[in-house]
Amino acid sequence: MSQVLIKKASYNYAELRPIIFEMIDVLAPDLITPQARVLIKPNLLMAAPPERAVLTHPLIVKAVAEYVIEKGGKPSIADSPAAGKFAKIIEIGGYQAALKDLDVKIGPFETYVKTDIGEPFGKIEIARDAIEADVVINLAKLKTHAQMLLTLGVKNLFGCIIGLSKPEWHFRTGVDHEMFAKLLVQIYKKVNPSITLVDGILAMEGQGPAKSGTPRHLGVIAGSHDAVAVDWAICNMLDIDPERLHTIRAARYLGWDSLDIQVSGDSFKVTDFNLPQLGTVVFGPRLFQKWMRRHFIQKPVVEQSLCRLCGECWEYCPAKAITRREKQIEFDYDICIRCYCCIEVCPHGALKAVKGWAGELADRIYSKMVH
Ligand code: SF4
Ligand code: SF4
Repeated sequence: MSQVLIKKASYNYAELRPIIFEMIDVLAPDLITPQARVLIKPNLLMAAPPERAVLTHPLIVKAVAEYVIEKGGKPSIADSPAAGKFAKIIEIGGYQAALKDLDVKIGPFETYVKTDIGEPFGKIEIARDAIEADVVINLAKLKTHAQMLLTLGVKNLFGCIIGLSKPEWHFRTGVDHEMFAKLLVQIYKKVNPSITLVDGILAMEGQGPAKSGTPRHLGVIAGSHDAVAVDWAICNMLDIDPERLHTIRAARYLGWDSLDIQVSGDSFKVTDFNLPQLGTVVFGPRLFQKWMRRHFIQKPVVEQSLCRLCGECWEYCPAKAITRREKQIEFDYDICIRCYCCIEVCPHGALKAVKGWAGELADRIYSKMVH
């Protein structure tokens, strides 16, 4: 049986700390043995202050690190950010200040081990710290995601793929959401965190998961030893059919079952959570596909007035679909695979995913037909 615990919470540390301690005690008693090497894996996507809701809140990470230290374990905190210098991320993200009095190591994943995650992917490069830790604690953020609908517990472990291997995997799995979800679930299974906590106190809705998303106060933390189960429970909490989440369908395909989940704690329901517009997989003859890619399906677009030509997006783009012109950037939508990495890495919130005019028109006609 997979137990999911949902607790109402705030970032008031005096109240938050005992809630986190209790959640770990209930969900994973005897998690930490003396001297255990414990990897704490938050979401450190990019440099963003806590009020933007991009990163796992530093006070949640602080409480977990204190728990590990109190039980005699040796915590370290690591992630592989999509963009930006690690030192800047922890400074702007509030980690430096939150962790300053704790004996805890924090840094980016640096080395990897080739690890077999099963067919069809075989051996892939996963962060050594994640594979070799005695215990992994997965600290995800509750956010929307323009490619995968939501980014929760399972997807958070994609950060165990180091640096430039990430866009390479996006490219290899292309616009095939199901294949990408399968990759995510297989990475999750291999890293095998002992517990997953999802920070939904200040969540993100709209065009997440980076600065184009909109912070939304929910005041909740959800946790489980089973990251798929916690993702499933969060979907229910947000009034979203869990089957809409690619990772839930991929996990089910790989043998996971939702029949045996027990959800306890505070009851919580949100009925107006604003989801992102998602990209669509293209089909049909080549010319038709080309037209669809340009005018129908969702694509990344730039708000030129916000773009500072910093180069993060074109350097990161796995399909090399972004070109710098003299005063602006330009997309080649014929080769863009709609991975939305560029939106994730843009430090100035200048990119967002927008449907083509034909897609918008079709949506309007459809909505008139059904209402
Ligand atoms: S869109 Fe964003 S990431 Fe790309 S060059 Fe402009 S500011 Fe930089
Ligand atoms: S342009 Fe953006 S969405 Fe398209 S392939 Fe490059 S990073 Fe992905």
